[in-house]
Amino acid sequence: MFNLKKRLGIILSIALALALCVGFMGDSIATNNNHANNTYNGKAPKYVFLFIGDGMSFPQIASAEMYLGQKNGKEAISSEYLSFSKFPAAGTALTFDAESFIPDSASTATSLATGEKTLGGVINMDVTKQIEFTPITEKLKAQGKKIGIVTSVPITHATPACFYAKVPHRNMAYEIGLQLADSGFDYFAGGSFDQPTGKGKDQEHILDIVRSKGYNVVNTKEEILELNSKSGKTVAISPVLDGNAMTYEIDRKPDELALSDFVKKGIEVLHNKNGFFMMVESGKIDWAGHANDAAASIHDTIQFSKAIDEAIEFYNKYPNDTLIIVTGDHECGGMTIGFAGTGYETFFNKIDRVTMSQTEFNKIVKVFKENTTKDKAKLSDLFEDIKNAYGLIAPTDEDAQKEENKSMVLTAYEIKRLEDALKQTMRDVDNRIYTDQEKVMYGSYEPLSITLTHILNNKAGIDYTSFSHTGLPVPVYAIGVGHELFNGYYDNTDINKKIEAITKVK
Ligand SMILES: [Zn+2]
Repeated sequence: MFNLKKRLGIILSIALALALCVGFMGDSIATNNNHANNTYNGKAPKYVFLFIGDGMSFPQIASAEMYLGQKNGKEAISSEYLSFSKFPAAGTALTFDAESFIPDSASTATSLATGEKTLGGVINMDVTKQIEFTPITEKLKAQGKKIGIVTSVPITHATPACFYAKVPHRNMAYEIGLQLADSGFDYFAGGSFDQPTGKGKDQEHILDIVRSKGYNVVNTKEEILELNSKSGKTVAISPVLDGNAMTYEIDRKPDELALSDFVKKGIEVLHNKNGFFMMVESGKIDWAGHANDAAASIHDTIQFSKAIDEAIEFYNKYPNDTLIIVTGDHECGGMTIGFAGTGYETFFNKIDRVTMSQTEFNKIVKVFKENTTKDKAKLSDLFEDIKNAYGLIAPTDEDAQKEENKSMVLTAYEIKRLEDALKQTMRDVDNRIYTDQEKVMYGSYEPLSITLTHILNNKAGIDYTSFSHTGLPVPVYAIGVGHELFNGYYDNTDINKKIEAITKVK
């Protein structure tokens, strides 16, 4: 009896020890992700491109590729690869930050620029907001490389800021702009400056300060097209802006400069015998994600691919000296391909009917609101605008009878959703009271516009789960010197560590 008890005791102790062991092993696996291959013994590339699709993960890329595969009436199930999906190395990166599995662009770009995790909103500082991190751009500048920062959103926005500034919060745009002026970096291009005269609008204009630090500031198409390797330190601002960002690709007129133009010019400005590093952000893939605007997301992702084509053309000339990396910072919107109402089918051709972003349609709604009283507002007064913008057709429209339009005709359920949304649209924004269900339906967006966007998405077989970022991992693609390091499954901080290893910065 005694022996049996003793034996049981021993067995229990061993079992407990084993359980603890397994527990610790589990712990060590969860917290010690040092399996990533971040060592490199080859020669360093002279030219490095880091492309960041803000809010771009697998769904944003895959939907753009499926859309292209079925463009121009092609019916076969086939995806047309974007330029970067054909790169020889592909990996996946986790995006969580120091406080959440769902990060923001400040913490994730800090990870990409410095290899460190921090809190959401923080630009290149630690979680206490006391210790500054040094971005790779500073280290590469010290090595003699020229540095370029290009973005389709404001140049002071979180992602670009992480490649030249250090501030405790991303909303300190004026301070970020001052640090841009002091960076000594060579080429800033795309969007303009937020808070150009400070939060209180009482500071010296940021562009005057930028000029006083020796920058050539240009903002006309002619001046921008004339830029070259002799232009010196340059800030090139898109002549066409929506706020301080470039317009969505879907809204861009053919003769207006695209993100790809700013990359092409950047290569000309930065090209020199010591090499360069260029970070290019497509920032509005994220904004389209927040607005659940699948058509805008797809067109901006395709333009991003065209911007990467410029780097590929350069790589083809200097394959032994160039590295191109393409990734996202986090997913946005919880976009997915597949919707309850369309089951196993998708209809990407319906995206082709969309002629403008939700932001542009908001302008139509604004004019309508200004000219219509609450009690006179009728959905039918907007049918023509809805048809022009989204291709959605009212059942009363004579075009509704045409065979090719059948699937674009609004159903009774969709009309009801739009009428409910119009009621919210016509309310004074300050007095708008949402039920919990309406908060999920509209987020902070213009109720009628977001509902139209949702209806169109769903007809195409696309849906979103959120108006915010999500915790999905992001893909990483690479081509050129050291590209093989980017294969595998690793943390976003490893992307920085790999670039630092390959470029041999200290
Ligand atoms: Zn975002």
